[in-house]
Amino acid sequence: MTQTDTLSRLPVTGRSRLRRNHNRGHFDRATIDAILDATVQCHVGYLLDGRPMVTPTFQWREGDHVYWHGSSASRALRRSAGAEVCLTVTLMDGVVLARSAFHHSVNYRSVMLFGRAVQVTDPEAKTRHLQRFVEAMSPGRWDLLRPMTDQELKATTVLSLPIAEGSAKVRTGPPVDDEEDYALPIWAGVVPVTRGFGAPVPDPRNLPDIEPPAGLLDGLKV
Ligand SMILES: Cc1cc2nc3c(=O)[nH]c(=O)nc-3n(C[C@H](O)[C@H](O)[C@H](O)COP(=O)(O)OP(=O)(O)OC[C@H]3O[C@@H](n4cnc5c(N)ncnc54)[C@H](O)[C@@H]3O)c2cc1C
Repeated sequence: MTQTDTLSRLPVTGRSRLRRNHNRGHFDRATIDAILDATVQCHVGYLLDGRPMVTPTFQWREGDHVYWHGSSASRALRRSAGAEVCLTVTLMDGVVLARSAFHHSVNYRSVMLFGRAVQVTDPEAKTRHLQRFVEAMSPGRWDLLRPMTDQELKATTVLSLPIAEGSAKVRTGPPVDDEEDYALPIWAGVVPVTRGFGAPVPDPRNLPDIEPPAGLLDGLKV
């Protein structure tokens, strides 16, 4: 494997090798990164007192790492720091209606990452990552805000996971029915899923005459 291969593809490991529908699996970073970058939502799975817990949260990617954050008091973050986690990101793209119940499906893009979560402790690095978090939520917003206080920084934990082991899985296209079922008079097809944002609703406590910043909706991700 060349250096370029190492960077552009994740290795296929015992736990990341797709057993079911392996033709839908992708290990190239371009596919994985595009899915991570297409949404801010993720689920982080970890063990809490030996039992599985999966916590939905907000993620953002910086280069070869995925980050998430929260209250320093959060059990999910305290138990994940330094521990093995599984982080998943899912985008549902369509409802796939087949000619039989068995072949109903969904079109989707998803990523599963495995590894040990690392806590970012250096205050400067933490601030930089939190800036990226705010920018992932609303590009251009960080510079508009009151600066973060030391107390707020202390009250916040940032965790990272290297994009080093994992997989993407992607389903696209129409239903795949049993050959004889294509002769049945049943409508089949895909209903695409759309994601988007509505008109911004101002905080009733906004100061008078404060307008939403220009381009507020630009670059927002569901
Ligand atoms: C929105 C959505 C809806 C789905 N609905 C269904 C459903 O109703 N029924 C169903 O059986 N499956 C569904 N799937 C697919 C499901 O995620 C699993 O891929 C599938 O159930 C096979 O599981 P497994 O444990 O046998 O996979 P295996 O192939 O045994 O998993 C081995 C490895 O493959 C990789 N892998 C597996 N699944 C995924 C994935 N989704 N994304 C990224 N990497 C993956 C992981 O690295 C995993 O450790 C859905 C997926 C999405 C995103």
